[in-house]
Amino acid sequence: PSAFLDVRDLRVHFPTDDGVVKAVDGVSFTLERGRTLGIVGESGSGKSVTSLGILGLHRRGHTRISGEVWLDGEELVSAPPERVRRLRGRKMAMIFQDPLTAMHPYFTVGAQIVEAYRVHHRVSRAVARRRAVDLLGRVGIPQPARRVDDHPHQFSGGMRQRAMIAMALANDPDLLIADEPTTALDVTVQAQILDLIRDLQDEYRSAVLIITHDLGVVAELADDILVMYAGRCVEEGSAQTLFRRPEHPYTWGLLGSMPRVDRAARDRLVPIKGSPPSLINLPTGCAFHPRCPHQGRDGIPCRTEVPDLAQGSDHGVACHLPPTERRRTFAEDIAPA
Ligand code: SF4
Ligand code: MG
Repeated sequence: PSAFLDVRDLRVHFPTDDGVVKAVDGVSFTLERGRTLGIVGESGSGKSVTSLGILGLHRRGHTRISGEVWLDGEELVSAPPERVRRLRGRKMAMIFQDPLTAMHPYFTVGAQIVEAYRVHHRVSRAVARRRAVDLLGRVGIPQPARRVDDHPHQFSGGMRQRAMIAMALANDPDLLIADEPTTALDVTVQAQILDLIRDLQDEYRSAVLIITHDLGVVAELADDILVMYAGRCVEEGSAQTLFRRPEHPYTWGLLGSMPRVDRAARDRLVPIKGSPPSLINLPTGCAFHPRCPHQGRDGIPCRTEVPDLAQGSDHGVACHLPPTERRRTFAEDIAPA
């Protein structure tokens, strides 16, 4: 594999009493250093599970994980758990929606960064502490030399998010995975955190994977976008392509529910009705068909055949509508009257 991160046909299935939950069912993508990929979808689309699969966090219990995850030339799905654990934190790190899931309330913020750093570096506490202060300063914590001894609860929500980012950066990870990194924050702080992630990426040239239901977030940060529905990729391409020439009816729906789309467009788009399907019993054919206003047109096998992700030059779309139809339909839907 030549890409820095190369995910091939990733599947993460959980057996339950009711049947097998196919949370991720054949997802492939690549990501280079210095680039940001946004994975978007509603909750239950499999986007978070995809990221946990990459990090090797689903390898316990009865989970069945298959496919390939190549990180910098090393395959992780078949690698020994020890090896993946070592890479986690050092080569890849994660930012969660809620910092309190990643930070321990009992220890100071500084102690936790020191710990994260010393897991992978044989350095004295004093050296690691200087690194912690430096990192807190880098992520915009004022007076880092004093705040380093605070506990997480002494920080505001936005500051805690910054501190968690500092912790994730402790070992200069090449791959940063952020799962809904700003969802819990108010709008102003959200914008600051997105700016911070962008700045840090410029500085570190890491590969960034943003997992979110919020198209505003990917519009801010992502170079490329992958849209997931029911455990599969339904559309992928550059951010420009996806925002300007989306071709999948589900993406049209997502864009319609995005507040930043200009009003003329939004008012004419039909929001997606219904909810995502059960991942145990997927609808036949295209999993989106029960919610799709375009299904069932003359001779198009929406209910019987699973559409492949057909690759154009810069754009992949999994929909049975003929390409001309897909373009025409969206143009009509959003064109101002
Ligand atoms: Fe809609 Fe059919 Fe395309 Fe699925 S394949 S998105 S049901 S038109
Ligand atoms: Mg999630």
